[in-house]
Amino acid sequence: MLNAQSVTVSLSDREIVHDVSLAIAAGEVVALLGPNGAGKSTLMRALAGIIPFAGTLSVDGRPTATMRAGERARAIAYLPQDHVVHWPISIANLVLLGRLPHQRFGQAVSAADRQAALTAMRMMQIEGLADRPATEVSGGELARALAARAIAQDTPVIIADEPAAGLDPAHQIRLMSAFRSLAAEGKAVLLSIHDIELAARWSDRVVMMSDGRIVADGAPGEAISAALLARVYGIKARIGHDECGLTLTPLGLSED
Ligand code: ADP
Ligand code: MG
Repeated sequence: MLNAQSVTVSLSDREIVHDVSLAIAAGEVVALLGPNGAGKSTLMRALAGIIPFAGTLSVDGRPTATMRAGERARAIAYLPQDHVVHWPISIANLVLLGRLPHQRFGQAVSAADRQAALTAMRMMQIEGLADRPATEVSGGELARALAARAIAQDTPVIIADEPAAGLDPAHQIRLMSAFRSLAAEGKAVLLSIHDIELAARWSDRVVMMSDGRIVADGAPGEAISAALLARVYGIKARIGHDECGLTLTPLGLSED
């Protein structure tokens, strides 16, 4: 579904992402892991078309370079890491903004748009916040509203940058299970996340980034090892596997 080949991204004359190739199939949830500054957000912003990159990217076999802006927005939804809304738009209208790529210029919001927004709001359990101004909800509530906006966009590819950050455990599970059901509908989901256990439990694959490169890519149980965590994060951790999946106990820093 999503196919990125040899993606290299430079910012302010510095090469941040080096020659990354990544393919995500329809039906797959892929967790992007890696330390702060590894280049996860930069890679995701490039794939989402926010910043320029060298390399090729296609969705469903179609190169994004040949897509118009609207077409691209119907192919890839992007949920940014920073949740900022500066104006007091209602939560319902914020989610409806996700439907913009599906609307013709000047055309009214359709029944299908409203239905898609409502379904997304139910998935994120924010129906009760519909009339609240986005500037007057909690950080976690806003994060869920923005996730709902990306879901309402109804694209074959969803790219979400740390969507679980700041959510309580129940809403983290709700979010991950929403991504799983979107994948079950045939979408491809790429999300960055710092909670390795959560990633392992809910993703088909984990991709580990370090210093702008992919250093591991595979099924969570196989790709995540104590040696990898020591090398990439500089931590000592105990890793276990039980009927609940992978468990991880950080024990300290490698140099301790
Ligand atoms: P991550 O999301 O994995 O924490 P980022 O992609 O945000 O990492 O950042 C990767 C690296 O790129 C960091 O070293 C960061 O300082 C650098 N970086 C981010 N934005 C810019 C920018 N606009 N100009 C120069 N360097 C940047
Ligand atoms: Mg980031």
